[in-house]
Amino acid sequence: MSTDVVAAVDIGGTKIAAGLVDDTGRVRHQIQVATPAGPAAIVEVVAELVTGLRSRAVVRAVGVGAPGVIDPAAGVVRSATDILPGWAGTPIRELLAARLGLPVAVINDVGAAAVGAARGPELRGYPEILHVSVGTGIGGALIRNGQLVSGPHAVAGAVAHLLVPVAGVIPCGCGRFDHLEAVAAGPAIAAAIAKETGSAPLPLTGAIRVPGAEAVIAAAARLLGRTLAGLVCAVDVDAVALGGGVVHGVPGFAGLVRDALHAEALAPLRTLPVLVPGAGADAPLLGAAHLARQTVAGADARHLARQTGVHP
Ligand SMILES: [Zn+2]
Repeated sequence: MSTDVVAAVDIGGTKIAAGLVDDTGRVRHQIQVATPAGPAAIVEVVAELVTGLRSRAVVRAVGVGAPGVIDPAAGVVRSATDILPGWAGTPIRELLAARLGLPVAVINDVGAAAVGAARGPELRGYPEILHVSVGTGIGGALIRNGQLVSGPHAVAGAVAHLLVPVAGVIPCGCGRFDHLEAVAAGPAIAAAIAKETGSAPLPLTGAIRVPGAEAVIAAAARLLGRTLAGLVCAVDVDAVALGGGVVHGVPGFAGLVRDALHAEALAPLRTLPVLVPGAGADAPLLGAAHLARQTVAGADARHLARQTGVHP
């Protein structure tokens, strides 16, 4: 293994994954554990996972992808839904850096997945990407010139709260109604299938097989595509990348989103590539590792400038 190794961590609502990533972009010694209850326990588990990984290689830095609105400069959770109770306010970077004595970079989990996917073969030729992940929620990330855009409030790319013209049957993760996530995320589609067909509420993967589900799924995909068409008109990108459990688990979903986007968009965007990159499960770790590497490189450059008086 290369000597340029970083530890990457993906904190999720149900599991925490960690692994070593070398400079060829390969993930080694990947481990997964259940997410414990409470921010202190989560940080403790992450520290233990990284400590275990350090027995296998010299780790230069740690990159962490975490749910919620993350201030990447401070490495703090600015706000979060109740997917992880008490998560808002957690100073992830400070706690881990103190515990591990290593540089730590923290990024939103969807941003980490977007950065990881953007470095894969399918998206390499596209410097400007809108990345949309459809799963239990709808996450988004904006890549400009190959770099993740965070924005002054760390919410750039958060597509979940775009207003849609159809009322959903459940509230959005933010508690408001008529937002994209409340209509086109997995739980919203499953709830709409149950309401429309009179069937018992099932997780989306089970609800797919309920008679009448197809039309509900198609309506949600079309609404997502139409909404994203408006957004890409506003932000203009080279490609839209789709990911997440609904995109990968519901046959035909991505194609319906793409067709609706093209039909709704302004003329220059009617052939915009809408892709489903395959980086898949490793994308969040690869993205977190890339950010950790950039953080170390930035610190090295600042250190060199102090030593030499030459500023880059
Ligand atoms: Zn919302």
